Amino acid sequence: MGFLKKIFGSSGQDNRPISGSSDSQGIYFYVQCDRCGAPVRLRADKQYDLINESGGYVWHKTIVDSRCFRPMPTVVYLNSAYEVTSHEITGGRYITREEYEALLTPTNTLPSEP
Ligand SMILES: [Zn+2]
Repeated sequence: MGFLKKIFGSSGQDNRPISGSSDSQGIYFYVQCDRCGAPVRLRADKQYDLINESGGYVWHKTIVDSRCFRPMPTVVYLNSAYEVTSHEITGGRYITREEYEALLTPTNTLPSEP
């Protein structure tokens, strides 16, 4: 009954937009620099980095990548459940964690498929 395993085996794909909370105290953001294309991962601490504002939170940060060092000022708005409601960034763009990991991995090394 291999086909049944295939059908029921792959489930539970959650689809987070630009942030993921893999530790209880921090929120992770993934940004790509517009100028050099370098991916940057950032951690915002819920307790120390987020500013409480009108029932939600605001995160102000000037992101600097490690390749061209151009500052990318950003403001992220979150609701009380720490979910991103809107974001602004200059000099870069928000990407998903999958895109970030794909940018870190060189595309010329493809996995060997049977
Ligand atoms: Zn850059």
